[in-house]
Amino acid sequence: MALTQLPPPVPSEGAPAGHEGILRRQSARESAARTYARSLPIVPVRARGLTIEGADGRRYLDCLSGAGTLALGHNHPVVLEAIRSVLDSGAPLHVLDLATPVKDDFTSELFATLPPGLAESARVQFCGPAGTDAVEAALKLVRTATGREGLVAFSGAYHGMTSGALAVSGGAPSVSVTRLPFPQDYRCPFGVGGETGERLAARWAESLLDDPGSGVRDPAGMIVEPVQGEGGVLPAPDGWLRRMREITAARGIPLIADEVQTGVGRTGAFWAVEHSGVVPDVMVLSKAIGGSLPLAVVVYREELDAWQPGDHAGTFRGNQLAMAAGTATLRYVRRNALAERAAVLGERMLDRLRAAVGAYDCVGEVRGRGLMIGVEMVDPEATEPAAAGTPDACGTPAACGTPDARAARPLPAAPALAAAVRQECLRRGLIVELGGRHACVVRLLPPLTITDEQAEAVLERLSDAIAAVSRTSRRIPTPRSPKEEGAAHPAGTP
Ligand code: PMP
Repeated sequence: MALTQLPPPVPSEGAPAGHEGILRRQSARESAARTYARSLPIVPVRARGLTIEGADGRRYLDCLSGAGTLALGHNHPVVLEAIRSVLDSGAPLHVLDLATPVKDDFTSELFATLPPGLAESARVQFCGPAGTDAVEAALKLVRTATGREGLVAFSGAYHGMTSGALAVSGGAPSVSVTRLPFPQDYRCPFGVGGETGERLAARWAESLLDDPGSGVRDPAGMIVEPVQGEGGVLPAPDGWLRRMREITAARGIPLIADEVQTGVGRTGAFWAVEHSGVVPDVMVLSKAIGGSLPLAVVVYREELDAWQPGDHAGTFRGNQLAMAAGTATLRYVRRNALAERAAVLGERMLDRLRAAVGAYDCVGEVRGRGLMIGVEMVDPEATEPAAAGTPDACGTPAACGTPDARAARPLPAAPALAAAVRQECLRRGLIVELGGRHACVVRLLPPLTITDEQAEAVLERLSDAIAAVSRTSRRIPTPRSPKEEGAAHPAGTP
């Protein structure tokens, strides 16, 4: 879709609807807990695909995509058509959890996409409409099915804002939740990164579960994100995830995959667990499955279906418009092989970004999977890690002389630089998200429908923004490509 495909702006009717007035009233009336609204002073009035238009007439490339919700971008024709056809059909819009043709269609389409090992004997629970509702439902499900209480989750995880989901998220202490290290290269908890780091992380999990002195006995479940999104775009290594599957299966611990953000093609596979071939016992799904409207479900192996009627009820479990929009989205992603497209384009975007900004002192790491991409901003004023291969660079023998040496000494996070990059992006008409432990990771979550031309425009604006921020950070790197001199395109592009 061309960048200019939006219809021309229509003047707002009725006073005082102007951009400034709306923003002023919002900050005067809405809760102090508002988030995106603080860093993105935009009043969206129209949107199509990747593009949002604000009430001030400015256009933005939206790589926030409703925090990863908009697999097909804004107002995709198949989504609009699906919603319209429900509205025009006279079907009821609210039916609690009753059966309807719309729901039947959604469930069939969902089951057609599930990993076969799960689809064969899956049950689906329609729960409250947010990701956090599905996480709560999944935790309750495994506790009911196993009769156990404790849970295992991972450092840096994000599962939502309700109390159970918060308890299994990284930041919140909880007596019933044991946190295990999530493997990552740049800030490897063991200081080694790579396969050694993965092996140590798995070994630590095994040891805690088996050691009678660890205080971790027979958990009801293990919950994991196949790519930590809010945690800073950290893909779980496939081998490590397979090991988590083996470890949980051998001990009768249900494995819950939280695919709220990673699902529906985002990471380059329809479900991110497919990269590793892992079949979880429970999958938590939301965001993209509602095709931009609120919808969440828990899918699980039928052996876990120990609930009695009414054990997990709720008023909003039958949003017909969301199911229709979701069916259209799942079908479109499947039929148009958008997961495969995300894999190829994501790889290309990562390569381009690494070439354009990877050498800046203020960039710690460029990483991602599919169209979940992150650039970790670090403090170039901090003591630099010694060059790889020198004795001082070796946090451990495993790191010595290997590319993992950088992992042994990551520079401190630089949230201020990340916020500055987001600001510079906004000035250039690009909406990005921040994530990571210290909000130091600049994140891209573009729609899977993004064109090559749009991807180039996104990369250009982001690289430009990082270059601008890099120039203001104390240590200005020696330019190594025309891009760093402020040229319009990354090195090697026309
Ligand atoms: N799990 C994951 C992996 C998420 O990324 C999120 C939201 N970012 C949630 C759960 C919670 O979803 P919601 O905000 O819809 O409650």
